[in-house]
Amino acid sequence: MKIEIVKCLEDNFSYLLIDEITKSAIVIDPSEAEPIINKIKSLGLKLKFIMNTHHHYDHVGGNKELKKLYNARIIGFDQDKHRIPEIDILLKNDEIWKDGIFETKVFHVPGHTLGHVCFYFFKENALFSGDTLFSLGCGRVFEGTHEEMFNSLQLIKNLPLDTEIYCGHEYTLKNSDFCLKHDSENKALISKIKNVKHQLSIGKPTIPSTLEEELQTNIFLRSKNVKNFSKLRDLKDNF
Ligand code: ZN
Ligand code: FE
Repeated sequence: MKIEIVKCLEDNFSYLLIDEITKSAIVIDPSEAEPIINKIKSLGLKLKFIMNTHHHYDHVGGNKELKKLYNARIIGFDQDKHRIPEIDILLKNDEIWKDGIFETKVFHVPGHTLGHVCFYFFKENALFSGDTLFSLGCGRVFEGTHEEMFNSLQLIKNLPLDTEIYCGHEYTLKNSDFCLKHDSENKALISKIKNVKHQLSIGKPTIPSTLEEELQTNIFLRSKNVKNFSKLRDLKDNF
């Protein structure tokens, strides 16, 4: 399975997962249709599925058009079936979904929204974390409680250290200011920021990151309890 990063809107990432033999593909969180269509054309792909981590417009904006154009089927969390536009396949927490070479496990990770899920492609060790875990940050807690978000992040922390994290937004550099302010002596963080700046200066995305890297540098993953996490989340909201 090959993973292609597609930049959408201002700072969103959508992802094309590709079976290089059959050319069939899945798109994760298509913010908008056009950049996805262009990539599909240039690589000669057949779009079979659309997967959404949550219902926000910048993650589902391309659903309708892509479904119509490619006759693709839309996959999402069963508890969000009324909010994910044109959903066809409803998955439950912990369910394993498979089609051809594609195989993923669904993790319900409430906090950013109540129906947010992550898709974990365990054979490739790749996690599509949507707006739950970002590089050097985490999503705003819009619908859930701080405790739910903290627990969702704990769940992600239990994955293998070399899990690659593909998140929903290019927020890494912006996030780094907050991490640095509260963790200024962290050598791993300082060296990561250097890499992040380099990547951006050559026009490359700063993802994927790895879980190991995030555990060393991401202040939200480093917080040990809900109280501490809550305090950091509040500070970040007003940063
Ligand atoms: Zn969102
Ligand atoms: Fe988003």
